[in-house]
Amino acid sequence: MATAPGHHHLHSSARRAKPQAGPAPDGLADKALEIHRRLCPVYGCPIPYFHSLDPLSELVSSLLSHRTRNADSGRAFKSLRARYPDWEALLDAPVEDLETTIAGVTWPELKAPRIQAILRTVKERRGALSLDFLAEMHVEAARTWLEAIPGIGPKTSAAVLSFSVLRMPALPVDSHHHRVAQRTGLIGSRVDVGPSHPILRAQLPADWSAQELYDNHELLMLHGQQVCFHHNPACGRCVLLDLCPTGRARQDERRMATSRGAS
Ligand code: SF4
Repeated sequence: MATAPGHHHLHSSARRAKPQAGPAPDGLADKALEIHRRLCPVYGCPIPYFHSLDPLSELVSSLLSHRTRNADSGRAFKSLRARYPDWEALLDAPVEDLETTIAGVTWPELKAPRIQAILRTVKERRGALSLDFLAEMHVEAARTWLEAIPGIGPKTSAAVLSFSVLRMPALPVDSHHHRVAQRTGLIGSRVDVGPSHPILRAQLPADWSAQELYDNHELLMLHGQQVCFHHNPACGRCVLLDLCPTGRARQDERRMATSRGAS
């Protein structure tokens, strides 16, 4: 269901846990856990972190990666590091210069001014160009702080908190993760990536560690990349088939097509 957790019909007693981590609607918590349990042995939990960046650098990296292949955004991030001695220098650089440096990503003409504007806001609000202070905050407060900056949505804020050296318990959702969640019925077919963040987080235990939430994201993402493909998901070899309405419908269609062919 597309109902956000913490909505009006949840009584205060049901929301005693942490904000945005209340009980999941519709008993989907069991399903979310079962999916996690089944995918863990397939992809190997705990899954190693792929970045060791400070949170501000993770923010820049995350802003570059929007709708861009990992290899291209990785290259653009390295170019930025090589061109500017620190993020302060990036902030002071002519925007055209920045745009040229990140030319390999999608929409460099939009991302260059946006990155500068976001860094400028961080500096104005904190008096320094650093996000290290977020380590002292509760994860939900840190998310709120980040998402108050225009251009930072739930995906970027979760990425900064989870993927950086902060290693905070936040659940990012990328397009692969989102597709698997939709097909398995964890979220409705009309729930977009942004709004899916609090819903999918609320389905997982409120006390899960940063590593467990990171694993959950990586598991669903890897499953989307390696089995539940955008076109032609490999349902025949999927460990989630019996609990996936999309997969079962596809199998039924195939069976009907086969029996029609046989008669
Ligand atoms: S059964 Fe098919 S649609 Fe469902 S998660 Fe597996 S691969 Fe994706």
